[in-house]
Amino acid sequence: MTPHPAADAVAGRHCAELIAELRAEGASETVLAAMARVPRHEFLSDAVSRRMDRAYANTALPIGYRQTISQPTVVARMTQELLTPAAPGRVLEIGTGCGYQSAVLSLLVERVYSIERIPQLHRQATERLRRLGYRNVRTRLGDGRRGWPQHGPYDAIIVTAAAAEHPQELARQLAAGGRMVIPEGPEGEVQQLVRYARTEAGLERTELMAVHFVPLVAEPA
Ligand code: SAH
Repeated sequence: MTPHPAADAVAGRHCAELIAELRAEGASETVLAAMARVPRHEFLSDAVSRRMDRAYANTALPIGYRQTISQPTVVARMTQELLTPAAPGRVLEIGTGCGYQSAVLSLLVERVYSIERIPQLHRQATERLRRLGYRNVRTRLGDGRRGWPQHGPYDAIIVTAAAAEHPQELARQLAAGGRMVIPEGPEGEVQQLVRYARTEAGLERTELMAVHFVPLVAEPA
């Protein structure tokens, strides 16, 4: 685990402002404590995004390869949904991207398994997570729609790219009592962030909020 590099006072100040904004939106203190410890600027690679006022702005930002780091409001909400009703042990993430969401989760759950389809992003995120000391995250290159059955079933699954149709295979890797949070809908149109809970009766579906995600891609990279 890594402390916030408050050695950089500017990063610390911008991060504190972001945390205050998320608190005002209703994010939980548990989630805020984790987000306050993750240096978001370390997950960005281009010079403009790494400016501290940009890196801690409450917006999505480009991470290359036409992908984005998610908006902090959305990271906070998705993380909160995974922690409800109790912190999960094992979490599967689809769409590692730059690794920011994996890092936040790693401070709150036992183990994070994360899959990314773009080789360069996979490599960069793996190296970054290791360098920053997030030791309970395992990453893999591949098509996340198939999940990672070897380590399942999972207490929680988080999909950080929008699915045009519901990936059935992922739901099968959800443990009894587990939950999955996934944006649903076509690219460029209004998408809904949806929570599925595995109950004895089957999958219970709840729509949470309108979101805007890059697509969950069906072809190999
Ligand atoms: N979790 C990231 C957000 C990443 S953006 C964060 O913390 O900010 C979504 C990511 O999903 C992109 O990196 C994209 O390449 C990846 N992705 C899209 N389709 C995928 C698939 N089928 N399997 C695995 N990753 C996929």
